[in-house]
Amino acid sequence: NVESLSTEKSSKKKKVVAVIGGGLVGALNACYFSKRGFEVEVFEYREDIRQAKLARGRSINLALSVRGRQALGKVGMEEQIVSKGVPMYARMIHNLNGKQYSLPYGKKGQCILSVDRSNLNRELLSAAETYPNTKLNFSHKLLDWSPDSGTMTFLRDDGSKREIQADLIVGCDGAFSTIRKQFFRRTRFNYNQTYIPHGYLELTMPPRNGDFAMEPSYLHIWPRNTFMMIALPNLDKTFTCTLFMPFDVFEKITTGDEVIKFFEENFPDAIPLLGVDALKRDYFRIPAQAMVSIKCSPYHLGDKCVIMGDAAHAIVPFYGQGMNAGFEDCLVFDEIMNQFSEDFGAVLEEYTRIRVPDDHAIADLAMYNYIEMRAHVNSRWFIFRKYLDDM
Ligand code: FAD
Repeated sequence: NVESLSTEKSSKKKKVVAVIGGGLVGALNACYFSKRGFEVEVFEYREDIRQAKLARGRSINLALSVRGRQALGKVGMEEQIVSKGVPMYARMIHNLNGKQYSLPYGKKGQCILSVDRSNLNRELLSAAETYPNTKLNFSHKLLDWSPDSGTMTFLRDDGSKREIQADLIVGCDGAFSTIRKQFFRRTRFNYNQTYIPHGYLELTMPPRNGDFAMEPSYLHIWPRNTFMMIALPNLDKTFTCTLFMPFDVFEKITTGDEVIKFFEENFPDAIPLLGVDALKRDYFRIPAQAMVSIKCSPYHLGDKCVIMGDAAHAIVPFYGQGMNAGFEDCLVFDEIMNQFSEDFGAVLEEYTRIRVPDDHAIADLAMYNYIEMRAHVNSRWFIFRKYLDDM
């Protein structure tokens, strides 16, 4: 009893697109396909985060850049999201001696925005749902699918299974994509996965006297060569600080006192702002998380399936471009749909041809910035300061 969602015969515009994953890229993609008039069904493993009491994603906030903004703009979402972001015009470098210096991101007035991940996801899901031709299916975990028949098997919360067919399957199911698993069975599928030695841990810096504890218009960085901490502002006047360090350094710190000693040695100016007790407690709340870089090609299987977002290109977060590149995937795909009059066979092939080199380049840049942010940012400024001092 396979549910065929396809209504292909009745009208070309009524083809059914199944988007797997209702995360950031899946939810935006649903808007793109809905806008074109397809019957869109989103299948998301988690419950509806708009109703969930505690929605914790991988990071609490993210940097939204022009690449992502353009993609949001095409479905009329840019202003709505930008209005809830905190602009960051420059990096604020925190030296060990407590001195701070800013390095602008671009020309005067240019900025990236710090946005709340779960709010962004909620707003994108709600936007998708405003289209009458879109249905969101939560608590649907894709177990497997068949590239030959296009049948997808989902596991629901109550333990029951649902088998579904669609005209096009769009895999937006993240770095550990179930959709992608079938690509491995095909000949000439290239795949490369690298875990970096660093992990990350998030800490919250509360407001001070009802205001931001540090200057809010900056992405704060404490570069310490082999590791670093960054902080992005939130609308509620908190900062989310993320500590990036090799796992073996994380593992050496086992007590609250060791945390404080480590911070005294490396981030002394952050201690009063984070609070000694909070620091001792929060450091151990969740273990440090791993970061993976995944490159693969092609991004499509025949005229049936395409992967986008982290499912196609998980990248390390140091360039702040994972989501932005995933959003741009949706925009680029949409443009190719225009070019090839929605002929899936031609569109999917062209999408791989156009998109793989760009996504691979972003992955390389992110890996490069992994070193740039924690080390070069430091030394370059050091050289510049020295030049100023010598003048
Ligand atoms: P995901 O966000 O992983 O969403 C995938 C969805 O698919 C999830 O909802 C999941 O539940 C669902 N799913 C998974 N498996 C199944 C299944 N079998 N069946 C059904 N559903 C399934 N990017 C930026 O652009 N800027 C930043 O500043 C930034 N900062 C980051 C900081 C950190 C610490 C990290 C780790 C990442 C950061 N990123 C950033 C990257 C960004 O988080 C990702 O690129 C983005 O979340 C990718 O979105 P996605 O929708 O492709 O995948």
